[in-house]
Amino acid sequence: MKRIMVVDDSQILETDVRRLLEGTEYEIVCYCQNGETALAMYGDVLPDLVTMDIIMPGIDGLETARTLLRRHPDAKIVMMSSLAYGDTIEEARSIGAKDFIFKPFNQEHLLTSLERVLSGV
Ligand SMILES: [Mg+2]
Repeated sequence: MKRIMVVDDSQILETDVRRLLEGTEYEIVCYCQNGETALAMYGDVLPDLVTMDIIMPGIDGLETARTLLRRHPDAKIVMMSSLAYGDTIEEARSIGAKDFIFKPFNQEHLLTSLERVLSGV
C-alpha cells in the first residue's frame, strides 16, 4: 500500500478522499487538520505522498509545503485546493509541489495525480 498523509482543515475532505481511495493501492495513514500538525507529524509518519490544502487556519498550505520541503526535500506534495489562480499554481510549483488538484475532484482525477507523482513521471 502507498501511504498518504492528508492535510486539510475540512474533515469532510478527508472523508471524501478516504472513500475515493477504498479498494485502491493507496491508504490514508495520517490526517492533519493544520500545517503545524503536519510539520510535527511528517518525520514520524514519513508518508509516500502528502495532499495539502492551501487555505487553513494558522500556517497556510503553501507555507507549510515550503517548510516541509526545506526539512524533507524528498517529500512528494500534491496541493489540493479550489483556488484556481495561475499565480497560486505557479507558486506551488516553484516551492516544489509535484501537482495541483482542483476541488471538487473525482476518483479519476485523484488517482491519476497520485499515480503520476508516485511513479515520478
Ligand atoms: Mg481549507
